[in-house]
Amino acid sequence: MSQPRLLILGPPGAGKGTQSANIADEYDIAHITTGDALRANKDMDISDMDTEYDTPRAYMEAGDLVPDAVVNAIVDEALNSADGFVLDGYPRNLDQAKELEGMTDLDAILSLDVSREELIDRLTGRRVCDDCGANYHVEFNQPDTAGICDDCGGDLIQREDDNEAPVRNRLDVFDENTAPVIDHYGDHDGFVAIDGEQTPDEVWADIDGAIVAHAD
Ligand SMILES: [Zn+2]
Repeated sequence: MSQPRLLILGPPGAGKGTQSANIADEYDIAHITTGDALRANKDMDISDMDTEYDTPRAYMEAGDLVPDAVVNAIVDEALNSADGFVLDGYPRNLDQAKELEGMTDLDAILSLDVSREELIDRLTGRRVCDDCGANYHVEFNQPDTAGICDDCGGDLIQREDDNEAPVRNRLDVFDENTAPVIDHYGDHDGFVAIDGEQTPDEVWADIDGAIVAHAD
C-alpha cells in the first residue's frame, strides 16, 4: 500500500499526541503538527502572498501572530513534501477544513471520542516537576512518593493551565471551533470514530485496524 495520509481529531487530553507518535512509528510516516510545520518552514518565501513580512520567521521574531493564509500555505507545503503523514492539530476550524480539501486527499480521519468528565480528570490530574519538567498524573502516572519527582526529587506542581476552570475553558474553545470540523468529516468514506476511553493499547488496536481498512 502507498503511505497513508491521515488526519487525527480529538479534544485536548484525548491522547492524540501519543497515538500520532504510534502511527508515525508503525507506518514510517511524518507526524505533522502546525507548530512543527511552522518551525520547519520558517524561511519559506511568502513575498507573493501580500503579507506584511516576507517569511514566517519574520512574524515569529516580531512576536506577531502568523496569519491564517500563511499557516495554510505552510501546512500545504509540509503535507506535499511528506511521503505519508498523520496530521495533528489542524484543521482547527471549518475554514481550515475547507482549505485542507484543496491540499490533499485523506485516506482516513480518525476521531478520538472521550467524554467531557474523563477529559477533565485527565487534564486536571497532570503534575509536572518544578525542577526538571518531568510529567506525572495523580491517577494514571503516579510518582513513587506522592508530590515528589522520581527522577530528581523536585516538587510536583499543578500548572495554572491545568486547574479546572482553564481546562473547562480549553474544552469549550475546542468544542466551539472543532466540533463543526468533526461534523464536516462525518460523511467522509474514511471517517472512523474511535473510543478514546479504552486503554492506550486498545485505542491503538482500533486505530491500526482503521488505517489498514482505509489506506490503499
Ligand atoms: Zn524532576
